Amino acid sequence: MNAKELSTFKELLLAKKETILKSIKNTKEEGKDYTTTEVGDSVDIASNSYEREVLFELSDNERKQLVDIDIALKKIEDKDFGTCEDCGGKISVERLEAVPTATLCINCQTKKDSK
Ligand SMILES: [Zn+2]
Repeated sequence: MNAKELSTFKELLLAKKETILKSIKNTKEEGKDYTTTEVGDSVDIASNSYEREVLFELSDNERKQLVDIDIALKKIEDKDFGTCEDCGGKISVERLEAVPTATLCINCQTKKDSK
């Protein structure tokens, strides 16, 4: 992968990271709202805690995405981006455009998924 392609993916990943960080911030603020409105409110406690669980799940998933993005960014720094971790082959640019955090080529991913 050439330097221009690498920097394109770097920008893509940084933009993705920023989007997630913003949404985590929003989630946290919403979480805060729940705590404050809960006091003296007639909101059903069960449904309220269910909603809070959903928020936690969301941020866990987002945290995982952030880790994946950081790994991909590190790979760009090391000029190792776009190399399949399994077979050492190249991951297609089309696949990386769709999933910039992909660490496996489509063949290895398919093999892994079918296991
Ligand atoms: Zn592979």
